[in-house]
Amino acid sequence: MGIQATYLGMPLAIDDLDVENLAYFKHCAAHDFHLQRCTACGLVRYPPTTACPWCANPKSDWVPVEAKGAVHSYTEVHHAIQPAFKAHTPYLVLLVDLDTQKGKPTEHEALRVMGNLTTPDGTLAPPETVKSVGIGTRVRMVFADVAPGLAIPHWTIDEVAAQPAKPWRYPEE
Ligand SMILES: [Zn+2]
Repeated sequence: MGIQATYLGMPLAIDDLDVENLAYFKHCAAHDFHLQRCTACGLVRYPPTTACPWCANPKSDWVPVEAKGAVHSYTEVHHAIQPAFKAHTPYLVLLVDLDTQKGKPTEHEALRVMGNLTTPDGTLAPPETVKSVGIGTRVRMVFADVAPGLAIPHWTIDEVAAQPAKPWRYPEE
């Protein structure tokens, strides 16, 4: 059965035929990050797909993955994409390199997982927190519950990790 829900005024839907995303978000709803691992080559992949991007094998197992990493890149949103997000601007969209499988199968690869920067309870981070985060910041995953079988993975600053002295940010005034 598919899922239809609303998150911050934005309609979200997962079709009942989209078994990979239904499985992915079901794990997220349990606040338990899992990804598919190829049964042939053993590599983990993201986002969820029907076949391995490295060897095209269609079979995979869902395995728990430690959801920690470092910001690979980011964008700071000042113009909300829809009215419900307006109250939260500026907010950060992060692309995070997971520690798991970083540098495999080539040195340029990583599992890069998108998410918003949030506070530990999963609400979009306030402006003073947004300003403190840049490329290199260590983050950990948190989940925002949306509906049964659906929680959205986000990123929050990893309080116990060693942080870079000055994470890289676009030059500002
Ligand atoms: Zn494979």
